[in-house]
Amino acid sequence: MLQTPLTKTILRTTDNYIKALEKAGICTVWDMLRFFPRDYEDRTQVLDSFSMIALKEKNTILITLLSIENSRTSGNKILTKAVIEDKSWYLAEAVWFNRKYLASQMERYKWKKVILSGKPKYEYGKLSFPSPEVETDLAKIGGSVVPIYSDAQYIPGKWIESKMWNLEKYTVDIEENLPEEIIKKYSFISRKEAFHKIHFPKNSHDIELAKYRLAYEELYAINYEAISSKHKKFDASEGKSLPIPLDAELVKTVMSKLPFELTWGQKIALFQVLKDMEKTHSMQRLLEWDVGTGKTVVALIATMHAIRQSEILERKIQVSIMAPTEILARQHFLSMQNMLFEFGLSCELLVWSTPAKKKWEIKALLKSSNLDVIIGTHALVQEDVFFYNLWFVVIDEQHRFWVRQREVLEKWWGNKSGLIPHNLNMTATPIPRTLALTLYGDQDLSIISEYPKWRKEIYTKVAKNDSERQQIELFIRNELEKGRQVFWISPLVEESEKMDLANAISTYESLVDIFHPFQVGLLHGKMKSKEKEQIMRDFKENKIQVLSSTSVVEVWVDVPNASIMCIEWAERFGLSQLHQFRGRVGRGKYQSYCYLFPTTGNSTDRLKAMEQTNNGFELSEIDLEIRGPWEVYGVRQSGIPDLKIADITDLQLVSQIREDIEEMFEKKKN
Ligand code: ADP
Ligand code: MG
Repeated sequence: MLQTPLTKTILRTTDNYIKALEKAGICTVWDMLRFFPRDYEDRTQVLDSFSMIALKEKNTILITLLSIENSRTSGNKILTKAVIEDKSWYLAEAVWFNRKYLASQMERYKWKKVILSGKPKYEYGKLSFPSPEVETDLAKIGGSVVPIYSDAQYIPGKWIESKMWNLEKYTVDIEENLPEEIIKKYSFISRKEAFHKIHFPKNSHDIELAKYRLAYEELYAINYEAISSKHKKFDASEGKSLPIPLDAELVKTVMSKLPFELTWGQKIALFQVLKDMEKTHSMQRLLEWDVGTGKTVVALIATMHAIRQSEILERKIQVSIMAPTEILARQHFLSMQNMLFEFGLSCELLVWSTPAKKKWEIKALLKSSNLDVIIGTHALVQEDVFFYNLWFVVIDEQHRFWVRQREVLEKWWGNKSGLIPHNLNMTATPIPRTLALTLYGDQDLSIISEYPKWRKEIYTKVAKNDSERQQIELFIRNELEKGRQVFWISPLVEESEKMDLANAISTYESLVDIFHPFQVGLLHGKMKSKEKEQIMRDFKENKIQVLSSTSVVEVWVDVPNASIMCIEWAERFGLSQLHQFRGRVGRGKYQSYCYLFPTTGNSTDRLKAMEQTNNGFELSEIDLEIRGPWEVYGVRQSGIPDLKIADITDLQLVSQIREDIEEMFEKKKN
């Protein structure tokens, strides 16, 4: 039985270990079997001379350890360095970072033989092994392929390896979870075989077979869920959506009223949206596009086209446009209002701060069909809000609504009107296509990585030291004198909210000094929303020239006159986040600047990437590579699954799996 709780008898261990395993979330046989090896060591081939190694590949080699000691790097990491020797007395070195106890543990193996495995480098005439695995038990030479497990909190990986054997007999209970046709198609081994081979491989071929199957299985599960949810929505809305024929002339007329020409990217996205709306089932589309590249206008044109066309069909319809914050909703209302009125369409704003009487009026209008477009926040998703005929829902900055909130929204749209509305989601998080497929697999994607010509590059610089900082401050004063405005972000200090506040206030106070007599405003998470709105308004109206804000306060407001973004303690932020902040400037006609102030000695490659590119997609690829998807997008909020074997960004495999699944759904239908 796989669900059998782990006991000291099963594992032949002590209660303490069982408790420690529980703490690490490993409670049952099944939990432990799903704790896969992080890597393997091929002990079938142990080399004994440096002349036989293959560079950049994993080698296992028998060496003599001559010396081992710790030192500290300039970045205050612990560096452990060992001098090693092969059988012909050739010397090389091995280095480890932050393995505090390694040197003392290895002390007694000095002048003794040990086995190292890792990928060696040859640099500056020196052979070196960065962070190799160490094995001191020479009896293991000539054995087989040995799995290497990560430590589970305080339990060493080596212990897990030795105890896994007690669970071997349970692998026969593992049930198949892939359809037979898929197993045949790829000649996969069975699931129980895969689990057996991943823990107890005889050779490297076993490992390949197991990984091949388990990676497929992992991605299959997630994508199956996304695709089946897409089909469910599709089936539910089939026949319940109002197809709106595309009127090219109408679109042209609307476009001719705009103060600018649409870019190709905007035209393509608009066309995809309008095409979706011609169908008899509801649109589920995500417009993924970097910040400041003009998503709003796409939604606006689609809105006007839909309402106008529905008039011809003699069906009154309504559109709701939802934003995550009041400021943003207000901004949309101001920018769309004129254009909508020009086309004779009515529009209202519904947010929490709308006066009660006005709220009541708006709700009555919505119910009675006398309102075409409603723009608002969560205040729209209330029990007492009824639509006459809600047909198109636009959600701006979708990523800021949590997965759960999105589920609630979906229920709500479905229930409140007879039709199942079309749904256009927009997000400014430039998630690479590979990841977006999995994350937003239940929607069609319009991902546009083109940057419009009208968008100026934002000059970005990392301040390396205090003197550079002073120069930058002088430059900023100069820009302030020219009439520009500045955002100044300081990070959330995780240790305590109090410190966070202290941090923001001290930054604020020093800015007041530095930029006297210009007005500096302070914005932080502890303020009441009324106060926040007031400060934002003051900044927008240029009553405040420098806005000092903590990162908890999201400044999604459009202030075209603000041309400088400064970020304190910049190394604390991920690239994607830094890029989002930077997108707050460069919105007006002025050349804009972004200055990053790391704490001394912390100017990382990551920050340099900000200097090198303004392209959010490039930055998010770099970020993904450096930090991995979970840290970049946050596990809870993004819903990115924690995969054990598969690479979530493996585009080819993900696409293949999605095709396989779609094919099966297709077959089921026929
Ligand atoms: P985001 O994609 O971040 O939501 P917005 O829709 O707010 O971006 O657009 C940013 C700014 O660019 C707005 O002021 C908008 O009027 C302007 N804009 C949008 N499309 C174009 C275009 N094709 N040419 C010039 N300016 C444009
Ligand atoms: Mg926007």
